[in-house]
Amino acid sequence: MQWGAAALVLLVGAQFTLWVRAHLAGVEPSVSRPAGVEAFLPINAMLTLKHLLLTGVVDRVHPAGLAIFLGICLMSLVVARSFCSHLCPVGLLSELTGRAGARALGRNLALPVWLDLPLRGLKWLLLLFFAWAIWWSMDAEAVAAFIASPYARVADAKMWLFFAPPSRLTLAVLGVLLVGSFFVRDLWCRYLCPYGALVGLLGRFAPLKVERDPSLCTDCRACTRVCPARLPVHTLTRVASVECTSCQDCVAACPARGCLEVRPPRVLPHPGRRALRPAVAIAVAVGLYVAVVGGFRLAGRWQTSVSEAEYRRRLAEIESPLYTHVGAMTPSEPAASPDPHAAVGTVPSHPASLATR
Ligand code: SF4
Ligand code: SF4
Ligand code: SF4
Repeated sequence: MQWGAAALVLLVGAQFTLWVRAHLAGVEPSVSRPAGVEAFLPINAMLTLKHLLLTGVVDRVHPAGLAIFLGICLMSLVVARSFCSHLCPVGLLSELTGRAGARALGRNLALPVWLDLPLRGLKWLLLLFFAWAIWWSMDAEAVAAFIASPYARVADAKMWLFFAPPSRLTLAVLGVLLVGSFFVRDLWCRYLCPYGALVGLLGRFAPLKVERDPSLCTDCRACTRVCPARLPVHTLTRVASVECTSCQDCVAACPARGCLEVRPPRVLPHPGRRALRPAVAIAVAVGLYVAVVGGFRLAGRWQTSVSEAEYRRRLAEIESPLYTHVGAMTPSEPAASPDPHAAVGTVPSHPASLATR
């Protein structure tokens, strides 16, 4: 599943690169803009979700980003944090790097608890920062103005320009993370990813979690040995940790039939507590994601309302201060645009101008 998702992301990236490069060169693109690129604008998606909750209106600038974000949240809310282990391509890259490190060095480094615990807090601090910037410090007007700002309208292209070509700082940060993941398994996911923290938090409320039947357990500890989240599975009755990604590795490793299984919560009556086979649990999670994204597509809320003509005009002047973080805080767009889709009005002075990072 994760390999398929990674292949799709690469295809989307390649298509978007062709599209944006053609616009930057001032020629007609040979391909259309893939809406799926908005998966890389999660903060913009959180802003549009707030806009939806406050106004009941789905933003037309980056609706696909909202659909993908909601799909990810829903699958992680039902099967705890399942996005991380079954769809996220960054998680796959992190896992492969960690495995390569383990093969080369014999094993990955496990940081001592006194270092591991505070470092795990970093991703929560990042999540808190974004929650503060988006949910607490912006009112409805500020959110609406920001998502309609010139900066937000080309946020996808700005994000592409951030990585192509990458600055020395970007390369250095990516290099440190890659090398670090070689030694410490899931370095980025375990310590730094705010997205992982968010879906982990949602996973706390998930009805479908791994459960251990102590009466069948032989205490062999195979489950704990394979757990990538380093959880003491052999001591738990129900795995409720925010670190559990529902990867099912422990279930697959357990030699005692029926001992470790994915089950609904204990509050349900017995017939409703039937165990789900790992493949079924994963299918449920991915099915929910596909249903949300499919629903948006069927409702005509997938493609951006920004026209090709507007993109062409804006990308021709992409170096203008209007399309920088500082520019997004300027009071208004300097000249009225002939394009009916172009944004007008006030743009807020706000930390959410980080929305494309
Ligand atoms: S922690 Fe972040 S990068 Fe890692 S798998 Fe989860 S969402 Fe992806
Ligand atoms: S091995 Fe089991 S407990 Fe550990 S992360 Fe995977 S599903 Fe969760
Ligand atoms: S692998 Fe199964 S039998 Fe062994 S300790 Fe874990 S839950 Fe118990």
